Amino acid sequence: MTFDELGLSAPLLRAVKEKGYTEPSPIQVQAIPAVLSGRDIMAAAQTGTGKTAGFVLPILQLLSATAPSHPHRIRALIITPTRELAAQVADSVATYGKHLPLKSAVVFGGVKINPQITALRKGLDILIATPGRLLDLHQQGEVRFNELEILVLDEADRMLDMGFIHDIRRILKLLPARRQNLLFSATFANEIRQLTKTILHEPVEVEVSPPNTTAERVEQWVYPVDKKDKSAVLRQLVVEKDWQQVLVFSRTKHGANKLAQQLEKAGINAAAIHGNKSQAARTKALAGFKAGKIRVLVATDIAARGLDIAQLPQVVNFDLPNVPEDYVHRIGRTGRAGAAGKAYSLVSADEIKQLNDIQQVIQRHLPREYVDGFEPDHEVPPSAPLRKPQVHGRAGQQQHKRAAEGQHTSRGRGSEGHNRPQQRNRRPGRRSVRPSLGGNTR
Ligand code: AMP
Repeated sequence: MTFDELGLSAPLLRAVKEKGYTEPSPIQVQAIPAVLSGRDIMAAAQTGTGKTAGFVLPILQLLSATAPSHPHRIRALIITPTRELAAQVADSVATYGKHLPLKSAVVFGGVKINPQITALRKGLDILIATPGRLLDLHQQGEVRFNELEILVLDEADRMLDMGFIHDIRRILKLLPARRQNLLFSATFANEIRQLTKTILHEPVEVEVSPPNTTAERVEQWVYPVDKKDKSAVLRQLVVEKDWQQVLVFSRTKHGANKLAQQLEKAGINAAAIHGNKSQAARTKALAGFKAGKIRVLVATDIAARGLDIAQLPQVVNFDLPNVPEDYVHRIGRTGRAGAAGKAYSLVSADEIKQLNDIQQVIQRHLPREYVDGFEPDHEVPPSAPLRKPQVHGRAGQQQHKRAAEGQHTSRGRGSEGHNRPQQRNRRPGRRSVRPSLGGNTR
């Protein structure tokens, strides 16, 4: 399949070619013709699948065929959960639309509102926005929705996780009833399905890979360690394995800051990225990381979502997320676009519940390995047996089917503890300390 065969216009084909894409990704093959035909879409797709071009390209084409917008009016609205994702989608709109005369802008909180108001004054073809700032701008009369033709909800599952459901419902009430709706979500849990029922009209269901298949193409390990040793273990791994670019996930902002400081102290260039950091600081940290100046980027789950960092060789979970699906998102940052990736989780005994929940979601037991010199005084308890996965719709059924066929479980099951030291190197008399991370949530 080529981009030409998808029915895209010459200016878009040119932009795609200049970007260096040779063929459309599977999500693009499915989504582009469906969006061009004017249908609503419900797409199960994670970051890294090429989903952004999957909706941006056909939207640009649809808008270029009709009349331009009036002052304060917008014709397409793309709502994203985070500022980073909004900025990245805006970049994509600018890149793919560079040979078209369409106008776009991005608005999000944490930065001055005045330039955003100026951008909206003459009207826009495409507005990319986070929910809160969009509502502010609407209240101030700076954006009006009566000419809206297309609505995109990007990473809808994350919007719900982040508590944006009320904002989304408020926004939906303001929109014209007749419009095309595109909804993208990494997972389709019940809550999302409820939302889709109220938004989408006879949607085309697009699904490139069922949820959680990321888990299959990323090699994963659990390193049981005592909580107090985690920072030292991470430093040792970075040095020993000579990691030059590693994304480390921290459950809390406080933990992310502390860890980045400890790494810096040890002479390893590191930066933390989370919701309390200013937009400028986040952009700077990301740029430094991409340029290879920052070796370790410590991120909270929300800050990491939507970061466009291509194919990281490895990611580390400094601690396990409370929401098991976040684990799948985290490890999805490595091994992208078919490349093999590696994910290491530093797990302490008190995280057994999170570990069990994760293993249940990915339907396999993760192999455990021990770091020499850091064998835990407090052993992580044995994993719970896996239960049959819950089935949610089509994606869930496929997942269920694969699990039944034993595809997920063949490698991980029974491998736990294969590298377990036979009580060697146990340091006598070491006592565990209370968890040092906590309190502060993302
Ligand atoms: P996304 O899933 O939209 O975040 O895209 C992930 C990455 O894939 C981005 O860096 C895109 O530039 C890249 N990408 C999107 N479409 C294609 C394609 N057809 N061929 C190669 N790379 C692509």
